[in-house]
Amino acid sequence: MSTSQIEVAGVLISPDHYIDGRRVGSPETFELRSPIDQRVLGVVSEGLEDHVEAAIESARAAFPAWSLLSAAERKVYLDRFADEIGKRADDFCRVESTDAGLLLSRMRHGVVPRAMLNIRWFANHALDLQNRPIDTEQAHHRVRHDPAGVVVIITPWNSPLLLSTWKLGPALAAGNTCILKPPEWAPLTCSLLADAAQAAGLPPGVLNIVQGTGSRAGAKLVGDPRIARVSFTGSVPTARRIAQAAGANLVPCSLELGGKSPFIVLEDADLDGAAATGALMYRNAGQVCLAGTRFLVHERVADAFVEKMRAHVERLVIGDPREEATEIGPIIHPRQLERVEGFVQRAVETGARVLWGGDRHAFGAQYFQPTMLTNVGQHDEIVQNEVFGPVLTLQTFSDDDSVVALANGTDYGLGGVCYGETDHAIAVADRVRTGFIWINSFGVRDLEAPFGGIKRSGIGREGGDWSFEFFCDVKDVVIPRKPFRASFSHR
Ligand code: ADP
Repeated sequence: MSTSQIEVAGVLISPDHYIDGRRVGSPETFELRSPIDQRVLGVVSEGLEDHVEAAIESARAAFPAWSLLSAAERKVYLDRFADEIGKRADDFCRVESTDAGLLLSRMRHGVVPRAMLNIRWFANHALDLQNRPIDTEQAHHRVRHDPAGVVVIITPWNSPLLLSTWKLGPALAAGNTCILKPPEWAPLTCSLLADAAQAAGLPPGVLNIVQGTGSRAGAKLVGDPRIARVSFTGSVPTARRIAQAAGANLVPCSLELGGKSPFIVLEDADLDGAAATGALMYRNAGQVCLAGTRFLVHERVADAFVEKMRAHVERLVIGDPREEATEIGPIIHPRQLERVEGFVQRAVETGARVLWGGDRHAFGAQYFQPTMLTNVGQHDEIVQNEVFGPVLTLQTFSDDDSVVALANGTDYGLGGVCYGETDHAIAVADRVRTGFIWINSFGVRDLEAPFGGIKRSGIGREGGDWSFEFFCDVKDVVIPRKPFRASFSHR
């Protein structure tokens, strides 16, 4: 039951929980390996019943004082928290690149600045959260947004720092106390977050981190009746289990799940732009929920588009994510690689044609080639199910009605991309049933905009006011304009 540190990428990290402002070890641990070369990085504490209990009690004890601070007072702490993340920027980059396989360059230029902004932006915007007035003829309504209580945050391995701060930012700014359960395949940058929180002077219990596996630590946390909210990003089967456990206690859940989003290329699209953007769908080895993975290309431009995209894909640099030039890194875990490979093999067995890729990549044991499959049918497994790897499909269409039908023809509804003459692309995009869709672009994200999916892609929206609505209890304090006279006929 050590509380010793492990060294990863030259950074000393605690593999233990962070509960009530202290590191807590566990008699049970699990082994962590790097996806780059399968090297053992260390052993990480499993979250047992005692740890979950201690974290919940600590978060409950910290709640009254933290929730009673004004948003401006909390902002002072949270700005310092963001500063402390910034001071450790290099550590976050090197560690997440090593334990999750994210590109070092993307960590440096995209993820870490965004993680800091996630904390700062919500701290700023919580300032005008409380007391939104509604005035009618008969009453003045003070609509309060009160913190809900102890919030459990469960994040996945494909971008742990980004997704954890995206939830912690609004949850903490609104005055909740939090328990973060990091992903067991990439738990280390969340542990660094605890160091940043401690250095920033966040009061003990405001942010707790319980490491561990989903089926043990995660399941215990989300099934506890003392918690007020669960915010989850991950897979559909896990979301079902979480929603059931939380639902038994009527605890609201925000669920941001997978996608099988369409990438539409209309006949009037800029094919060069669409092809360049198309290659971005292999980012993070395709382990990105919001990627457009089903290419729907107008039949008259399909051949030209395929050749243009092939040219981009052939130039992609696949390799060690810690090297500056690398554009595509590894698959997170051998189990995930097998899953990806299984999807491709079954698709090919049932008639899919490989346009490029289709196999493991020689760079390393956990690498898979950027792959494009065509000759696939709408009801095929490869078109209907999320692969979460560098595997895309391509179908053609002849008119707007048929592309809309194809785009909407899965159980998912997260996002989408639509390339075409702008008005035409918007007209088609308006008919696509997803939580968001990008016109002639991809991945443009603003913190104030809603993010989330419909159908199997999730429940609820995150971002801006949507995050605050979820993490708050809304209360209407009604003050009548005229003296109130009690009467049974009064309405
Ligand atoms: P994937 O299947 O892509 O690995 P998951 O959705 O299973 O992703 O995991 C996302 C997060 O959910 C991880 O932090 C994992 O530990 C957690 N998790 C898995 N199962 C459960 C569960 N039953 N209850 C709570 N959290 C869970």
